[in-house]
Amino acid sequence: MTETVISTGAICAETGDLQTLMSHARAIRDQQWGRTVTYSRKAFVPLTNMCRDTCGYCTFVKHPSSPEANIMTPEQVLATAKRGEREGCKELLFSLGEKPELRYEAARAALAQLGYERLTDYLADMCALVLRETTLLPHVNAGTLTDDEIDVLRPVAASMGMMLETISRRLTRKGQPHYACPDKVPLQRLRTLERAGEKHVPFTTGLLIGIGESFAERLEALEAINAAHARHGHIQEVIIQNFQRKPDIEMANHPEPSLEDMLRTIAAARIILSPDISLQAPPNLSARHPAYLDAGINDWGGISPVTIDFINPQHEWPEIRSLSQSCADAGFELRERLTVYPRYLGADSTFVSPDLLARASDMAEASGLARQQQHLGELA
Ligand code: SF4
Repeated sequence: MTETVISTGAICAETGDLQTLMSHARAIRDQQWGRTVTYSRKAFVPLTNMCRDTCGYCTFVKHPSSPEANIMTPEQVLATAKRGEREGCKELLFSLGEKPELRYEAARAALAQLGYERLTDYLADMCALVLRETTLLPHVNAGTLTDDEIDVLRPVAASMGMMLETISRRLTRKGQPHYACPDKVPLQRLRTLERAGEKHVPFTTGLLIGIGESFAERLEALEAINAAHARHGHIQEVIIQNFQRKPDIEMANHPEPSLEDMLRTIAAARIILSPDISLQAPPNLSARHPAYLDAGINDWGGISPVTIDFINPQHEWPEIRSLSQSCADAGFELRERLTVYPRYLGADSTFVSPDLLARASDMAEASGLARQQQHLGELA
């Protein structure tokens, strides 16, 4: 591999030459991932929009007293999954608020109506339902997890994820976006990253940039993710996500990160992270997302032909067909992957439970990417 000669000091120089940084990042990406850029065709299930945290940028969460607060029923989960299956999705992504039942009586009551005391147990049963009734592979984004919660989810979730977001403890102080958010204390999130590694879970994490953290704190967060991966080999992908202003959030007037800021952070991530960690940035949060390819990404993350982006509902997914075209224009081939990355799908993999491994392997071609490339069929 071409050695990347760049000092940490050059990366840390927030004002250093962006083009040089990006060119180093691109070289690492090209060496490891070639000219293939991937995405996962998925349906999203926002299992509950109640959460015990109150992040200042969140538009997804609803207070249990709101008429919009809900926990999806098994019938609703299955209806979305079936729709995804009909549209050629391979993944069902469960996203949900964190542990609302620990804070709100109304959340406990709603769970009790479904026959559960703990949201994680309901989530695990919904994963099992999806596995039983559809061909989709569940991926869960359930936030911070205890050892026991990971044990309950691992047999029914092909992969899991939790955005580290930031490592800045300053942002948990009064007036900051993570004030009074017990699950956003960086130490708690780092512990979840570590537990997932110890338990061999293919794991997705990432940074949310532009919420008040410094550039140096971003680099520190990337170093922490990389250190966990060096210990356990479980970080399959890192997302660099840009903060989005919305009218109904506490941070409605907070500035959004610029494209340059995004490119600099993506490039720094590509240089800091182990090359085998996939690097992803969302295509629907900037009209200029093709530029992310120049900064070293190799993946666009989840794109759904059936459900909206519940976290950023004002931003539509790009048409997969047009994304494929813009990738081709930039000299890349768009390919569909599964929720589990190829390197965890070997016959002797200890990262995926045996039943799920057999199922995922059946869905994969020799390269480990999806056997059925749905968008290529669409284009035919
Ligand atoms: S961002 Fe996540 S953890 Fe924070 S309030 Fe929203 S749902 Fe809860």
